[in-house]
Amino acid sequence: MGGENRVFMKIIEFYKLLKKPVLSLEIFPPQANYPVESLFSTIEELRDLEPDFISVTYGAGGSTRDRTAEIASSIKRDFGIETLAHLTCMAHSKQEVDLILETLWTQGIRNIMALRGDPPSDTESLDLVLREYHYARELIEDARRKADFGIAAAAYPEGHPECQKLGDDILHLKQKVDAGVDVLISQLFFDNRKFYDFIDRSLQIGINCPIVPGIMPVLNANQIKRMIFLSGASVPSDLLRLLDKYDGRPEEMEKAGIEYASKQVEDLLANRVPGIHMYTMNKSRQIKEIVENAGL
Ligand code: FAD
Repeated sequence: MGGENRVFMKIIEFYKLLKKPVLSLEIFPPQANYPVESLFSTIEELRDLEPDFISVTYGAGGSTRDRTAEIASSIKRDFGIETLAHLTCMAHSKQEVDLILETLWTQGIRNIMALRGDPPSDTESLDLVLREYHYARELIEDARRKADFGIAAAAYPEGHPECQKLGDDILHLKQKVDAGVDVLISQLFFDNRKFYDFIDRSLQIGINCPIVPGIMPVLNANQIKRMIFLSGASVPSDLLRLLDKYDGRPEEMEKAGIEYASKQVEDLLANRVPGIHMYTMNKSRQIKEIVENAGL
């Protein structure tokens, strides 16, 4: 496919070229009835951190999906920051994906996060046999064929919730990487030892691409309890104590959560991770504090 004359970078280049750990930030598009400008002012604030790239999630439901390409493209064009547009395939046909990839490319997006996604509640009854995509690997193969995209994919340090055994999940991860993944970004976790064990196991079976830890700070007890439930992430006793201690005291919870995440990032950096991917939850002040505390 053709393209424009702007300078585009595949995100793998950051991990190859930079002498320091790569900083990436994840944001999500606001709901359709919410102005996109508020997100742009958050990005403006986050720009102070000089992130190497910003990733934009792809909504599970239809309403925010069109905004992913628009926002990712604006991050590149208006903010001059490289972007990674998430794309899930489960609820799309091959033809739809082909068109989406084409649109992303023409909008100047050169990096995609290729995901399977989860079934949206309204298509849960969808006949699984009729579905054209079953695993992210198939999307990775199609994107590789379509154009010269940089491709990232998701990794699960404690295993994907649908997979009974972590060992099997890691084998599936290897299949994804072999299909053409440049970089893996991890699911949130709170216990760094789980991440280090996962890295060892991944290396043992020949996964050699960068595996970047994804960090979600605990800023709000209820929101994090939901994330823990959905992701199945284990909660170390010191974090459990914080959740208990500051239950009903949101300001103190946030302060303690920032401190916990700062220490987590500091420890990861000391263990020479290739970069840090911050799940910003569209917050700037707290994320800036963590990144600055950790000396990134
Ligand atoms: P896959 O890699 O396809 O894996 C899904 C399951 O299938 C796993 O249990 C795996 O072990 C199993 N599997 C894979 N291959 C095989 C095989 N050959 N045989 C049997 N089983 C197999 N969701 C969104 O909706 N939008 C987003 O923007 C988004 N961004 C994310 C970003 C990150 C960093 C992460 C970690 C997750 C993100 N998700 C997002 C969530 C993701 O869509 C879900 O976790 C989803 O359930 C799995 O997607 P996947 O791409 O990891 O799937």
